[in-house]
Amino acid sequence: MKNSAIVGINWGDEGKGRIVDLLCGSYDFVVRYQGGGNAGHTVVIEQGKFALHLIPSGIFHKGIINILGNGVAVDPESLYEEIEMLRNRGIDVGPHNLKISDRASILFPWHKMLDALEEERLKDKKYGSTKQGIAPFYSDKYQKKTVLLGELLYNKNLKEHVKDILEWKNLTLSGVYKAEPLSFEYISKWIDEYKEKLAPYICDTGKLLKQAEKEGKSVLFEAQLGSLRDLDYGIYPYTTSSNTLASYIPLGSGLASAKIDEIIGIVKAYSTCVGEGPFVSEWFGPDAEKLREVGMEYGAKTGRPRRVGPIDLVATRYGVEVQNATCIALTKLDCLSYMDKIPVCVRYELNGKEINDFPFPSLLDECKPVIEYMDGWKKDISKVRRWFDLPEEAKKYILYIEKAIGCPIKYISVGQERNAYIER
Ligand code: GDP
Ligand code: MG
Repeated sequence: MKNSAIVGINWGDEGKGRIVDLLCGSYDFVVRYQGGGNAGHTVVIEQGKFALHLIPSGIFHKGIINILGNGVAVDPESLYEEIEMLRNRGIDVGPHNLKISDRASILFPWHKMLDALEEERLKDKKYGSTKQGIAPFYSDKYQKKTVLLGELLYNKNLKEHVKDILEWKNLTLSGVYKAEPLSFEYISKWIDEYKEKLAPYICDTGKLLKQAEKEGKSVLFEAQLGSLRDLDYGIYPYTTSSNTLASYIPLGSGLASAKIDEIIGIVKAYSTCVGEGPFVSEWFGPDAEKLREVGMEYGAKTGRPRRVGPIDLVATRYGVEVQNATCIALTKLDCLSYMDKIPVCVRYELNGKEINDFPFPSLLDECKPVIEYMDGWKKDISKVRRWFDLPEEAKKYILYIEKAIGCPIKYISVGQERNAYIER
């Protein structure tokens, strides 16, 4: 039995979905343990390009059971849409290969409304939410004001529970934001509709994983977003509202005893960041546009142009440390092939001093990147499949990063497609 985790080291969008799809073939389960429909994990296979939001990236492999753990924000509407989208494109999805934890909470329409209303109220102070209701959802969960998916199956007083919560929510919707309150009839129908559609998928996934553990089966845990968006360790308040770190796996997956043998951290060969918040190595102008174009850096969920810049070794080293990563998959190396010189943010300058350690979040605005340049390789590397066939300059770049972040780079991805990678 071997359990592994695939986690983001940077701000998200490092290529987690792509690497999960690549490596999950030797696992029995792929489990999402946090986050929700704000994720956008892209997988490119023979049937085309797929953007997954809630469904784990193991769904394209036969024989794998995909699980949404109790830590996930399950929006039944988006989830069902995603199931239909996959089925319409010929992907097999059903209760045999997709299971939802009965202990996961339901993300309701009011969560999305409140998310949008609050971003609207904040105007230029907004957090850059994807408006999927994630922050209101997790706040409510902490307040014990959510409904568990298992209640759709077992709670005889389900509608009363929902009615109580709706009454409380409407106080905020109409009282605070002066919005239209939601009617109980609407929510009641909504519940009936998704109960019918999703009931076959809901079960005690914790029990399933415990049994799998006893039988020596293997689990791959799939994170959403990256280290710097972790609620506790990230660039608060420009984080997400859940814990993206591997250390949250035993809590959010449903397998409290989870032992993780390998934590594979995904690092992008340059930096990208979607939404608001400090981003020290950010580029602007034509350099940024060129990199964004080459890397096709537009959000998989929102289509928003991603902010881009050179790789940030200060932030990446911190990401590796807080994830406790045991090895790294470096993605999108092919996207740097056009550069004569490759910029690397090696340190920050803060108040006239150079620093190596990632500082307290509010100090990031005062940090300036210290950039060094490495030689580019100026060759197409997207067809390279062996370490020894990489140009010397590319090897030097990889080895430099490896040394700086103190973690072995085991996989190098040079394209979107499943087989476009090098294993060292
Ligand atoms: P995730 O959220 O971490 O799963 O990453 P996203 O899917 O949001 O963004 C990563 C993007 O980069 C996707 O469009 C991937 O298809 C693409 N991608 C991943 N690895 C590579 C690579 O090595 N080279 C290139 N050119 N694209 C890649
Ligand atoms: Mg993404």
